[in-house]
Amino acid sequence: MNILPEIAAHFEEDRALRRDLHAHPEIAYEETRTAGIIAEKLRSWGIEVHEGIGKTGVVGVLRNGSGTGRIGLRADMDALPMTEANTFAHASANPGAFHGCGHDGHVATLLAAARYLASTRRFSGTVIFVFQPAEESRGGCSAMIADGLLEKFPADRYFGFHNWPGVPSGTAATRPGALMASSNRFRIRMRGKGSHGAMPHLGQDPVFTLIQTAQALQGIITRNKNPLDASVMSICHITAGTTDNVTPSEAFMEGTLRTFDNAVTDLIEERMRRIVECTAAAWNNTAELEFTRQYPVLKNDPEAARLAAEAAREITDVNADCDPVMPSEDFSFLANAAPSAFMFLGAGDGSHRDPGHGDGPCALHNPSYDFDDNLIPVGASIFARIVERNLV
Ligand SMILES: [Zn+2]
Ligand SMILES: [Zn+2]
Repeated sequence: MNILPEIAAHFEEDRALRRDLHAHPEIAYEETRTAGIIAEKLRSWGIEVHEGIGKTGVVGVLRNGSGTGRIGLRADMDALPMTEANTFAHASANPGAFHGCGHDGHVATLLAAARYLASTRRFSGTVIFVFQPAEESRGGCSAMIADGLLEKFPADRYFGFHNWPGVPSGTAATRPGALMASSNRFRIRMRGKGSHGAMPHLGQDPVFTLIQTAQALQGIITRNKNPLDASVMSICHITAGTTDNVTPSEAFMEGTLRTFDNAVTDLIEERMRRIVECTAAAWNNTAELEFTRQYPVLKNDPEAARLAAEAAREITDVNADCDPVMPSEDFSFLANAAPSAFMFLGAGDGSHRDPGHGDGPCALHNPSYDFDDNLIPVGASIFARIVERNLV
């Protein structure tokens, strides 16, 4: 590992900041304390600051020399609306909010890179630091773009990373092309006719119809789609009825569909509509399918991915052709706007966690998760070298 010395020197301070953010998590679009800390730090290092972009987003602009190149570096700030199972000193003090995805670490890392770049200034051009709200299903990146991010602070390329359990600790991984899947939400409302649970023939049971629909939908993945096109569908929420002997008049389910290809999404959505409508009709129910395309596929520009991997290789081991993953990222909106690259930083197996962590594995969105502070100087050094190598 070749951490840049000026970054390594601030490790204690960066770890303390990360743990403070962890103890004070804020969910989507409520990141006011976090954004305030970011703005204050950036200003204290002489970086131009713009606040309130996409509600709570913060942009820092750092210019140096006469270079005309512009690089955007992005971190997400939001916590998850869930309860933390850890009891160590820096565990969440905000019930119902938890940095279970490590965005506290992403913020600390990008700030460490900003401090380094502002003090060393070994580049010529413009660095744009993008701190976005609401990455977790709430479209914070789109909110910043709708608020003029790309027009007011255009960059030629964007770079970002996510800490990633399963990738060896402290190493980096990326790939040219699709790295993370698109996310799509479906909601199905089945309407029938309520009845006595002992006399279902007098009604039209929507629970029965919904269950058949749920089972049929998985057939799209295994029977209709080309097996070589990766995709996954999960029904994650089902609700109906109030008690054991009343057949309700309505049943509801929702879930997520992930794919790497819009044509595959189109095919699956079309088949879903047909199955939902026809299954409902077969049992004298009516159904409504709401299908929402949330985040597009995160596609790395091959050249940007190569530049990111080369910079990262100066700092740590790099897998420049890792497997893509089914989770999604709204960094994809930046990657669709300019040639960009996203990386994973290996988060290891959880052995870094302080005593007092919960029983769970060190997995994203698990209530026992905690970002590994040792990744801060690694990620910051990679960001710094991406800038120094490419803004000359
Ligand atoms: Zn997450
Ligand atoms: Zn995340």
